[in-house]
Amino acid sequence: MSDQKTAIIIGAGPAGLTAAYELLNKTNIKPIIYEMTEDIGGISKTINYKGNRIDIGGHRFFSKSDRVMQWWRNILPSQMLIRTRLSRIFFLRKLFNYPVSLNLNTVLNLGFMRIFKIGLSYTKIRLFPIKNEGSLEDFFINRFGKELYLTFFKDYTEKVWGISCNKIRPEWGRQRIKGLSISKAILHAVKSVFSKDSSVTQKNTETSLIGQFMYPKLGPGQMWEQVAEVIKKKGGEIYLNHKVIGLKQHDNKIVEAVVKEKTANEPTTKTVDYFFSTMPVKELIQSLQNGVSQEVRHAANGLIYRDFMTVGLLLRKLKIKNKTRIKTINNIIPDNWIYIQERDVELGRLQIFNNWSPYMVKDKNTIWIGLEYFCNEGDELWNKTDESFAEFAINELAKIGIIEKEDVLDKVVIRMPKTYPAYFGAYDQFHVVRDFVDKFENLFLIGRNGMHRYNNQDHSMLTAMTAVENIINNIKSKHNIWAVNTEDEYHEEK
Ligand SMILES: Cc1cc2nc3c(=O)[nH]c(=O)nc-3n(C[C@H](O)[C@H](O)[C@H](O)COP(=O)(O)OP(=O)(O)OC[C@H]3O[C@@H](n4cnc5c(N)ncnc54)[C@H](O)[C@@H]3O)c2cc1C
Repeated sequence: MSDQKTAIIIGAGPAGLTAAYELLNKTNIKPIIYEMTEDIGGISKTINYKGNRIDIGGHRFFSKSDRVMQWWRNILPSQMLIRTRLSRIFFLRKLFNYPVSLNLNTVLNLGFMRIFKIGLSYTKIRLFPIKNEGSLEDFFINRFGKELYLTFFKDYTEKVWGISCNKIRPEWGRQRIKGLSISKAILHAVKSVFSKDSSVTQKNTETSLIGQFMYPKLGPGQMWEQVAEVIKKKGGEIYLNHKVIGLKQHDNKIVEAVVKEKTANEPTTKTVDYFFSTMPVKELIQSLQNGVSQEVRHAANGLIYRDFMTVGLLLRKLKIKNKTRIKTINNIIPDNWIYIQERDVELGRLQIFNNWSPYMVKDKNTIWIGLEYFCNEGDELWNKTDESFAEFAINELAKIGIIEKEDVLDKVVIRMPKTYPAYFGAYDQFHVVRDFVDKFENLFLIGRNGMHRYNNQDHSMLTAMTAVENIINNIKSKHNIWAVNTEDEYHEEK
């Protein structure tokens, strides 16, 4: 009998696949991945609809970690495009630069009165900042002033989370836009006129201002499907349509996983040496069959997630015209995505997949876009039939003047649960859950929902890499895994 150790990895998203890849490359541990859906890539998958590809979310491949950048290049050496980012804000039926820049276009779009008010409220907050940032609203106001917050941040953010900004913890801002402030945004705009940070890593640029990124020709799923192929070639196992429904613990170790194949009547039980989990923390705790205190269960059950729906629309043309100097195929507007700040529609964001990669679109003479809606699983939007939801989305887009309804050639609706782990609900009790799971020596929580943290692909991958290194170096503490993507939190604490 072989004495090779094995690891169960829950989930075939970026974190789970990275863990498997690293185990195969650096250890003698055999990874076995269970993925409950039929797809590879998790939130970072690409959906192929009749030859047109949808990226759920629009995944930029960039990282301040050289290790991650190199890792991606190694996997797809000849398939990564370098893209120049353009994303704007649609507000007052006009397009504004994002990050908002103080140019003639902005002044004319907003009007002198509003600009004056923005300047005044920004000066005020510089002189009298809010001392203890208790909410996301305080976070935004401290960095941008109240008027700019009300104009450009409040409505979009409330669409994303479905609750008021003053009920959201400030950590989300710290994770999402890190060190960005208006002075940094303006400084960045001025600097970029005189010197171009031409490297794709852009180490000296705030994450929110990154101007260039890599992108697989066929969308993010291409990266993760390729990683899955390598894993299988190197001897790892990947089981799709297999859901981990139960875990058993004994003596500070996870000893068993209960796995159910979609069509099977009965689940099976697996005993291995290590467990990596990218499943939502809430569900992980619910799946633990023994030894969980009421306090831990209560804290985990109170974790909240925000869900996501995308409507893919194939169009003959857009109504909105390209008024920039940027040359594009068929002269469509050059944006990768557009934030929809308009208050009279529920639409949150619009992706133009042609501008992410022309290879995402089957017929280059058509326009392939994704309309993004933030919602809660089971709410009114989520429960609409595909047909009525697509109709609703088309009407919204026509209402704000971006398309004419008769230019729609085809449509598809995609639902993606648990896209955003929320920093409200029982989040302030998360430490109770973390202390509990950290005591299991052979259990590693990694990734985005796996750690209930707003992790991008690179952070999700780094948590997996760190966990594998801890096994190699026999490091018992999980502290360095939790420390990934928290630099600014530590700065704030200092
Ligand atoms: C709108 C949006 C935009 C984004 N944009 C970017 C971007 O520009 N750049 C970037 O780098 N990142 C971006 N991200 C983040 C990126 O999607 C995530 O960081 C990444 O997908 C997280 O990887 P993961 O493996 O931790 O989790 P996931 O991608 O969620 O994968 C987890 C997998 O586990 C499976 N699973 C769950 N429970 C079980 C179970 N019980 N048994 C078996 N399988 C299970 C799920 O089906 C899923 O496939 C974006 C995310 C969103 C929502």
